[in-house]
Amino acid sequence: MRGEFLELELTTNCNAACPQCSRNFYGGPRWPTLPIASMTLSWLKEKLSIDFMSKVKVIRLCGTYGDPCVHPDLIDIVDWLKSVTAAGITINTNGGMRKTSFWQQLAQSLGPNDKVVFGIDGLEDTNHLYRRGVSWKRLMENVKAFNTAGGTSVWQFLPFEHNEHQIDTAKQIAKDLGFSDFLLKRTTRFVDKKHERVARTTVIDTNRIYFISPPTKKELINPGYINFDKSSYATIPIDCIANQFNMIYIGADGYVFHCGFLSDRLYGYEAEQHHEFEKFKKLMDLAGGPEKANLNFTSLDEIINGAWFKVIEDSWHNENRLERCAHQCGKHNGLGESTFTYIKEK
Ligand code: SF4
Ligand code: SF4
Repeated sequence: MRGEFLELELTTNCNAACPQCSRNFYGGPRWPTLPIASMTLSWLKEKLSIDFMSKVKVIRLCGTYGDPCVHPDLIDIVDWLKSVTAAGITINTNGGMRKTSFWQQLAQSLGPNDKVVFGIDGLEDTNHLYRRGVSWKRLMENVKAFNTAGGTSVWQFLPFEHNEHQIDTAKQIAKDLGFSDFLLKRTTRFVDKKHERVARTTVIDTNRIYFISPPTKKELINPGYINFDKSSYATIPIDCIANQFNMIYIGADGYVFHCGFLSDRLYGYEAEQHHEFEKFKKLMDLAGGPEKANLNFTSLDEIINGAWFKVIEDSWHNENRLERCAHQCGKHNGLGESTFTYIKEK
């Protein structure tokens, strides 16, 4: 069933400002066109039928523009999810928000097959260089509260030049703190939204500008990042990863896609400068208008079995092909393989 793997972006709110996240301008202010939206529990109940939810096997609460753990009703939403599906739930977070009592409660609401993936990219002196706005002290208190209360947690580490020397220490701390896994992601990050490799990312701080760079060790770079060839994107066969997993992605603004890789074309400085920004609107028009892609106006069944998903899938074989799909899921370009690994490891 399509939707066996369901990703929900509960909110576009976040306490942090990571410089490669589309929600802000290079780690600075929030990007002005991004709507601040959150799914309510009553909206979820209305839009996702009990019959549909009973068939879902994997739920991922992550998103493109926000962090699920700032959602004020996350515990209630998790409790509802647990009552309507046996799916394993994974929650991705920077972990730097809320009080320890929230994290204890979350651990109690989640079951043994569920987990929280904490994005911790370094140690006390480096994590904030990427996870801007996250206090190390609060993060560690939250992690300890969650793990001590019996939660299953994963430490996800994004390597950069400024933290690659800390990986072994981080692994040891993860063990000491009771994380069940340590996930080191080989980087594919230094590609902009125009699918061009960039040597570094600029960070706009209040009183200064600094840069973050990829790790220097080759084994920390994903081969797909080294090998991808943009000149093949008009013709390379597309093997949709989302279709392999029967995925659906639902954004906090109500737009539904096969995957989050398409959601991140809607808002953001770089995405809005790319020629595909207009093409994306054209695809929605071909499906009958943006409402046909949005759960606020159209039923989930009609979106995924109707014109919107068909327009996207047809685009893989016609002149409307999205470079985004070729980049992420082009066969044998390497990045598709890394996407596959990413989903499996989550
Ligand atoms: S924690 Fe996630 S949503 Fe928040 S700024 Fe970082 S990448 Fe974006
Ligand atoms: S990027 Fe395109 S081809 Fe890849 S998973 Fe998403 S919809 Fe499918």
